[in-house]
Amino acid sequence: MVSLFVHGVINGCHHTFKVVSPRLFMPADLRVSELISKEPVGWKMQVIDALFLPHEADTIKCIPLSTHLPPDKLIWAATTNGSFSVRSAYKLAMELSRSDNAGSSSDGSGLRIFWRRIWRIPVPHKIRHFTWRACREILPTKANLKRRKVVDTDNCEECNNGLENLGHLFWSCQRARQIWQCTKLRFAFEPTAISSFFDLVWHLIMVEEFDEDKVATVVTIAWSIWANHNEVRHGGIKKTGAALVKWSAQYLDEYRGANSSPEPIPRSQDVKWSPPPRTRYKINVDGAVFKTQKSAGVGVLIRDEHGQIVAALSQKINAPLGALEVEAKAVEIALQFARDVSISDFIMEGDSLVIYNALCGHSPPPSSVASVISGALVFCGVFQQVDFSHIRRQGNKPAHLLAKHVLGIVDYVAWLEESPCFLTQALTHDVSFSI
Ligand SMILES: [Zn+2]
Repeated sequence: MVSLFVHGVINGCHHTFKVVSPRLFMPADLRVSELISKEPVGWKMQVIDALFLPHEADTIKCIPLSTHLPPDKLIWAATTNGSFSVRSAYKLAMELSRSDNAGSSSDGSGLRIFWRRIWRIPVPHKIRHFTWRACREILPTKANLKRRKVVDTDNCEECNNGLENLGHLFWSCQRARQIWQCTKLRFAFEPTAISSFFDLVWHLIMVEEFDEDKVATVVTIAWSIWANHNEVRHGGIKKTGAALVKWSAQYLDEYRGANSSPEPIPRSQDVKWSPPPRTRYKINVDGAVFKTQKSAGVGVLIRDEHGQIVAALSQKINAPLGALEVEAKAVEIALQFARDVSISDFIMEGDSLVIYNALCGHSPPPSSVASVISGALVFCGVFQQVDFSHIRRQGNKPAHLLAKHVLGIVDYVAWLEESPCFLTQALTHDVSFSI
């Protein structure tokens, strides 16, 4: 049974989850179950009103009760499934520190550093993307597939002894243990400290001293585990741990060899998209107006220093906006999208000179877009660094195609680390400098 004071039960309005009502009339070992009547099942309203401060009483009464009256259980309130994870604890800690320092500059800088370091790991881009997705737990593991009701079971087929999520596949599974033993890597933490891939990478790049080569090896091996895991699923051969470790080392060696010579940069006379500086991102935005349909479209494309797509968005606006208004909304939507995909240091680029001048403060915005522009500028404050850039239409073609793509969709479509197929040609034009 859960003690109200030791554990705290109220996870509604208090970010601390602690009961603050004075304990005047409550025994120190008051149990949650003592506040619940069994027939009919419900909170003992009068008791709660008498014992708690009004806002806590309201919070308690808002918690829906199961008519099955399951026994009291301790849950970790920071995740939706109630299980503890380092990631959620970190997020919670950041939120608490942010609210404790309300008004000061405290923010999620640790998490920002983490994501920035992920993108700096010296591995091929696809492995960085894989790492990013794995840390966000968005790979199609059986646990994820079961959640989406694609498969019925989520147990690990390797060991039949655990839930097949990424923490298991890459760390706690018997097979993963054997693979890590084949490496010369030493990990300065207890194996039990890891429950997700995020935990593992977090330990390596935030807790331990950030050793880029070690992290590169770890994520490349994880990638090879994942690749072989999928091969086996489709009838391929299961490789031994030693073979995966050897293959990963060779792969990294080849990558390092290929990247030690400078890349040639061909010149071109026409207007061309240019990539952002190292470690930054570029977000291209554009709008399209569909007069007859009384709607508009917004296209957003986020690319990294190599011109690789990080994320793309086509979003429909069901309102008869004019061209300028759509361009302004495109900036706002792009900022929201950047926040959603945790991009914090970027150059926002569009082909509307009026909007660009307004964003830079070179000239006042036209009144029809003034509120959107000023809102967007305020929103920029949540990011680490935002700069604006203007490009002629010719150089903004992929974003334009994304904006036009909304004609065929209902609401919006987002792509993460993959390229919408209808962009292939326009993108080849853009990224030819880096291949
Ligand atoms: Zn397993």
